[in-house]
Amino acid sequence: MYVYYSRKKPFEELPEEMTAVWICSGENCKRWMRDNFTFSLIPVCPECNSEMVRGEKMLALLENTSPNQSRGRR
Ligand SMILES: [Zn+2]
Repeated sequence: MYVYYSRKKPFEELPEEMTAVWICSGENCKRWMRDNFTFSLIPVCPECNSEMVRGEKMLALLENTSPNQSRGRR
């Protein structure tokens, strides 16, 4: 049997990691988004137009789902 260790931790569930996100500052709004984009300006919540603030969330590590980052073609 060939056992492939990519890391020293055993596989359990999807690994989670503190991920940079933008969180809506509106009190009744729980909108947030991943910080996949390099915002040069503070983004505004698309739902309530409040400013979004930088924060972090524990999120499962994902492959790039962002259409923003096209990989490799071209
Ligand atoms: Zn909002």
